[in-house]
This record gives sequence, structure tokens and C-alpha cells, in this order.
Amino acid sequence: MFDSIPGYEGTSGDGGGVYLPPPMPSVLMPVPEASSHPEWHGNIPSISEERAHEAFEDYVSSKCCYRSGPVRDGVITNMESFNTYRYRLETFTESRSTKLSQEPYRGQHADAGIQRAPEPWEIAAQPPSYFTEHKETIRVPYTSSVKKCDPCSGMGKTPCVFCIGSGSKVCSWCNGSGQCPDGACYACGSSGRERCSSCGGIGFHICNTCDGNGQLLVFINLIVEWSTERDEYVGEDSSGLKQEKLGKVSGKELFRDGQIMVSPVLGFPDVSVAQASERIIRDHRVKYTNNSRILQQRQTIELITITRVNYTWKEKPYVYYVYGNELKVNAEDYPATCCCSVM
Ligand SMILES: [Zn+2]
Ligand SMILES: [Zn+2]
Ligand SMILES: [Zn+2]
Repeated sequence: MFDSIPGYEGTSGDGGGVYLPPPMPSVLMPVPEASSHPEWHGNIPSISEERAHEAFEDYVSSKCCYRSGPVRDGVITNMESFNTYRYRLETFTESRSTKLSQEPYRGQHADAGIQRAPEPWEIAAQPPSYFTEHKETIRVPYTSSVKKCDPCSGMGKTPCVFCIGSGSKVCSWCNGSGQCPDGACYACGSSGRERCSSCGGIGFHICNTCDGNGQLLVFINLIVEWSTERDEYVGEDSSGLKQEKLGKVSGKELFRDGQIMVSPVLGFPDVSVAQASERIIRDHRVKYTNNSRILQQRQTIELITITRVNYTWKEKPYVYYVYGNELKVNAEDYPATCCCSVM
């Protein structure tokens, strides 16, 4: 029946919903203009030997299995900077799907056919603030109609399967004889039958689907979802620190740009960052305009500092890294650990 409502063809009640294309993209996608050249900060922050040592000290004291000898007696021989950039694109999207829904009919207004139902993207929905996840369910006007409840065939109730509608069953005390060893059965008053506990003796169950009304109001719900899609690129560096470690730290923000549709970064000194920006923006435009609408994008470039600290302890060389704004430390070859495994 809903197949006849324009814009809602294929709506079903299976919960998956149907994702619908947004309206003409030309309205929503302004032709990108080249980003203005941001002012790149050229200075490379580096940390002092003292700062590195402090971070190392904090790190080791936080590990129960790391003994303090190497921190106390180790000697820093060399510090190198391997700073890298992280590019991140966030795309805030709105998508719409529909679901066939129903509720018990209690005389609600059934408005199907009174007027043309607004199409999915014509229905007003107030987005939350940008980059906030949110979901809203809206009943589509002019799609509500009344129909007979299928599970109970419109009766509002179904016969009890335990007593086959009789409301009683064979007495479990006397097994239906009405007699106990010492005379008449007190449990059933000699009748041989007792009340069905499943239906309470009435022989039927109220239908859950229609709540006993025998009829349902069926209608289309529009489900509007706002979500943030995120992708990033971190430049290669030759420090030897595993790149996934950098996911846990923040960097110094060099550039931030927010618009409905951002344009690839131009003129950034690291070409790989500019290329990543172009690629990720293109990917998002393809991925998130087919079944959703892009409401806002923002892109950032951060400078993540990585300092490799070489030191010796008991005449052997070791290394640790200090990275990110948080001055996180990684020391995989720490020489004085005990018992339990450490990461
Ligand atoms: Zn009995
Ligand atoms: Zn029963
Ligand atoms: Zn029913």
C-alpha cells in the first residue's frame, strides 16, 4: 500500500530502512574555491634534554615492572627530532531512511490520502550542532491508515494454547479422577479439573500486537541520522616509532578550515600532506553524497613532535621516544624490567 506514495517506494518494516538519495546536489555543493594559503609555521619545536628526562622518569615510575636504574644512571648521548604532520578531515552528514511502523489503533486520526505526503527530503528536521551524533524519528504526515491486526485476525485475542480455549485443565493433584487416597480431591473440589494458570481461566490471551483492539494504525516513520565521518593521514617519518602510537597524542594545530565543503589544502610544504588532503576530500565527496547530504566539513593539520633520545646504561646503548603535546614516552627496549610482560 505504501508503494503508491511517491518517495516511499520500497519502504518496509524489517528495520533496515531504505536510504534515499538526497535532493539535487547542485544546491548543496558549492563549487569549491581554492583555499587561501594558510601561514605555515616553520619553526620546529624541540624539547630540552631536561624535559625529555622528566617525561622518561614519569613514564618509568608509572610502570610497576620498570626499575629506576636506567633512568637514574643512564646518560643521554644524542637527541633527534622527527616531527611529522597529521592531516584530518571530518565530514558531518545527514542521512534519511524510512521504516514501516505500527501501533495499536485506539481511534487516532488516520490521515493517509487526505493530502500528498511530503517526500523524505522535504520534511523539516533540525540538525544538532555540527559534528554531534544524533538520531531522530519523525512520523511522515498523510501516511497513517487503519488495518486489521494479522496475528489475531482482528479479534483482539488469541485462544490459549495450554487449555485449548477451555480455561481449565486436568487437575494435577488427582490426575482428573476427582478422588485422592483419603477421599474427595480438595484441590479441584472433586471436579477433576483446575484453572488454567497460563490464561487465568479465561481461555484466551489478549493480542500483544494490537493490545486487544483488533486493529492497527500503520504509517511510515522517517529516521534522520546525523554523524561524523573521520579520516586522517599521518606523514611517514624515519624515527622508528610505530605510527599507530601517534593516534593517542595530539599535535600542535597549524591549520584549521571549516566550511560546507572544504577544498584541498594548497601550498603546504610537505607535498604528501597536500596529496592526502586532495585524496581524502575526494573520497568523502564520493562516499557521503550518494546516500547522505554533507552539512559541514572541517580539516586540520597538526604538527606532531617526535624526539628520539639515545642513551647509554651500563655501557650499552638504548633508545626511547618522547612524542606529541602530551610528551608521551615509548621505550620498548627498556633494559631493567622484571617478571610480568610489559608493553
Ligand atoms: Zn483434583
Ligand atoms: Zn488457558
Ligand atoms: Zn491483534
